[in-house]
Amino acid sequence: MRRITLIVVILALYGTGMAAEAPSPSCPSGKDYTLAIHGGAGVILKENMTDKRESAYRKSLSKSLGLGGQMLEEGYSALDAVQFVVMALENDPKFNAGKGAVFSAAGKNELDAAIMDGRDRNAGAVSSVTTIKNPIVLARAVMENSRHVMFQGQGAEDFAKEHGIEQVDPKYFYTKRRYDQMKRKVKANKVKKHSFLDTAETKYGTVGAVAKDGCGNLAAATSTGGLTGKEFGRVGDTPIIGAGTYADNRYCAVSATGTGEFFIRAGVARDICSRREYLGESIAQSSNHVIHKTLTDMKGDGGVVAIDEQGNYSFAFNTPGMYRGANKGGKTLIEIFDAK
Ligand code: ASP
Repeated sequence: MRRITLIVVILALYGTGMAAEAPSPSCPSGKDYTLAIHGGAGVILKENMTDKRESAYRKSLSKSLGLGGQMLEEGYSALDAVQFVVMALENDPKFNAGKGAVFSAAGKNELDAAIMDGRDRNAGAVSSVTTIKNPIVLARAVMENSRHVMFQGQGAEDFAKEHGIEQVDPKYFYTKRRYDQMKRKVKANKVKKHSFLDTAETKYGTVGAVAKDGCGNLAAATSTGGLTGKEFGRVGDTPIIGAGTYADNRYCAVSATGTGEFFIRAGVARDICSRREYLGESIAQSSNHVIHKTLTDMKGDGGVVAIDEQGNYSFAFNTPGMYRGANKGGKTLIEIFDAK
């Protein structure tokens, strides 16, 4: 992507919902950056996926990865890169965030998002919002323009109004595919009440990104519609700092996807960073331990994208697949299925 195209893309996304100034580069430009993204984990099997569908997902992942990579290369901050990557994925109806989010059992789209700045561990989060076009934009506004970390429901919507953040009719989030999924799930749950997992259809579809920029700073961002058929007022791990999202310049940045309840109970994202801090593990060791041992022992499922302060990245997931991609200094990779 040429520089001018990048600015146009940023401004087009920016126009969709921010009151603050458009971002501009603040770090040295060059190849000293890393970006890792995900579009959800779950029962994603090659044999259940048409070539057309697979290539559509690859295209979406590659587009957002391209945008974030180009931003980092041009000297934009990790915080801006993860925010814009997540905005692009929120606007893509294939993923369970923003447009195309899953439905609650009551037939609503209730969205959660969080962003964290590894420089000072400042963080912003929103939960259960129903009119915010890009919840990650609101999470960033909470981080930068309030003395609190998380706003939920009506309060979050009021905060958005006060700060000029774009709101839409809740119908904007509707997709037939997600609505039908919820109907099937609610029907199945009449038999198996409160089950999280149902059929081979279980895919989490949350979106997230972690990055290290040319200044050496880390950031993480995650956004989701939660779980299909979730009960009233349910909040998952995505907006919980330390569960689904975490960033600390000294050790790591993490964004998670999966059965949120388990990620909250295990404090997954913070634990991955803590293992590096206390045990000196590599990012691959700590993320694999937390996903393949801690989470798996608890019978939770899902995965993470994680990077360390050197820009090494790791994907860890215990599901058959996870939509994911990485760009380390221009070397890119996009994967969907488990390689094993
Ligand atoms: N972790 C999200 C939640 O529990 C769901 C997902 O990853 O798709 O809300």
